[in-house]
Amino acid sequence: MTAVQIPGVPVVDNGLLISTNPATGAETGRFPTSDPAGVAEAVRRAATAGDWWAGLGFTARRDRLLRWRSALARRIEELAALCHDETGKPVADAIVEVITAVEHIDWAARNARRVLGPRRVRSRLLLVEFGAHLEYQPYGVVGVIGPWNYPVFTPIGSAAYALAAGNAVVFKPSEYTPAVGQWLADTFAEVVPEQPVLQVVHGLGDVGAALCRSGVGKVAFTGSTATAKKVMAACAESLTPVLLEAGGKDAMIVDDDADLDAAAEACVWGALTNAGQTCIGIERVYAVDAVHDRFVAKVVERAGRLTVGADGADIGPITMPSQVDVIRRHIDDAVARGGRAVLGGPEAVRPPFVHPTVLVDVPEDAAAVREETFGPTIVINRVSDVDEAVDRANAVGYGLGGSVFGRRRAVAVARRLRSGMTAINSTLTFAGMSTLPFGGTGESGFGRIHGDDGLREFGRAKAVTRRRGPSLMPAMTFERTPAQVARLVKTIKAIYGR
Ligand code: NDP
Repeated sequence: MTAVQIPGVPVVDNGLLISTNPATGAETGRFPTSDPAGVAEAVRRAATAGDWWAGLGFTARRDRLLRWRSALARRIEELAALCHDETGKPVADAIVEVITAVEHIDWAARNARRVLGPRRVRSRLLLVEFGAHLEYQPYGVVGVIGPWNYPVFTPIGSAAYALAAGNAVVFKPSEYTPAVGQWLADTFAEVVPEQPVLQVVHGLGDVGAALCRSGVGKVAFTGSTATAKKVMAACAESLTPVLLEAGGKDAMIVDDDADLDAAAEACVWGALTNAGQTCIGIERVYAVDAVHDRFVAKVVERAGRLTVGADGADIGPITMPSQVDVIRRHIDDAVARGGRAVLGGPEAVRPPFVHPTVLVDVPEDAAAVREETFGPTIVINRVSDVDEAVDRANAVGYGLGGSVFGRRRAVAVARRLRSGMTAINSTLTFAGMSTLPFGGTGESGFGRIHGDDGLREFGRAKAVTRRRGPSLMPAMTFERTPAQVARLVKTIKAIYGR
């Protein structure tokens, strides 16, 4: 560690990005930083690698991706330990993260051909003399920009799908997690040594900005809403398409027929896993009046049991030290405006740790209800019924995930939540469901990773028509006669004009 380095805050020293553990300050690694010329060079290399990779075809790519999956699965403890060292997150949380990443690589590899491969498409009466063919062709090079909170799961959610679709990837990890990013690229290079199909460029935000302007075919960004807007603006200069996975303020609704023990357990997990530094983390709960007090008591009892510390605890440090100020501001503001801390509170903020905090009766316009807190805090507010719960849940600009606990109305309530994903009687589970698309709406961004939609994000639809016989009613030619046009008009009226 250099003399001026604050634990967890990355510094660039002599062109090297130095990454440290946020709890202990122990160095995790140092990595050469890139610059716009270096990024451009990486993208040039990737373009050649991408041609080779695309040329392999679906089966050969699947086999190589499955070998990468196997490497991650075999070395799960090693990757989880590195993730723990670099972010401070508990090893068990890191294990769960790697497992979901392994599942996504597996699914993307096995399903790319089905979703993206060439297929015939039926023609309709109007152009019945033509056959139709559709396939999704790779963009060439996809730029992936990732955050620090899930440094394995989030980039793989884009990169594995982009790779399965036949693209090369240039990945810019968060400056807080370069070691994990490098590990992923190094293991990929072990199973695909021929070409630099997955490269990493290190550095601060300017390197991400350079990637947006580097001529890549598409940018897949995961990070904050503020940065997502900058990424979109930079990509707009060259009409580079973007996929934006941004922040969230996910709500959980607890109905009067919910299993309260299950709801409390899932709430504590969904809100406090990874110290609440989860884009789809539960940050607000709306519990109906009939069950509110019992639910709060169960959450407080469970959250109060959790241990906090650097090693072996349930809750680790706050990875990005500056986030502690945001968490403190949200708790202080909630309490100053009449909210009550029934667990934790302002004194729970003890950098680099924040102890679990449960706030009730927080005004709906408080920062703790409207802004992303990204800490181990839960706001639980009382509502008269599920309709009020849905209205309040939908009243913020974010729209990422969410959860509903209940029986009779749960599915209907889930469908009314303005978000990309909702878990019924669980929290966060959709993230590990490789068959489902993942992504948000509003300030949470747009586009989808995972599932069929996630594969299609990384391929351009290529449509082909092919004549298979003469036209009975030629319309798209100057050779058409007035009689043929008249016959066409008559036919269209007969078919569509009824
Ligand atoms: P940031 O937006 O700060 O950073 C994300 C990435 O963008 C980092 O690699 C960062 O580099 C890079 N970056 C910074 N400035 C620019 C720029 N001008 N142009 C291009 N890239 C840039 O987010 P965090 O890393 O703090 O991650 C936390 C956020 O991510 C939360 O809001 C969370 O909700 C969200 N998130 C969303 C998920 C989703 O799927 N919707 C999943 C996980 C997290 P550097 O770190 O070097 O500054």
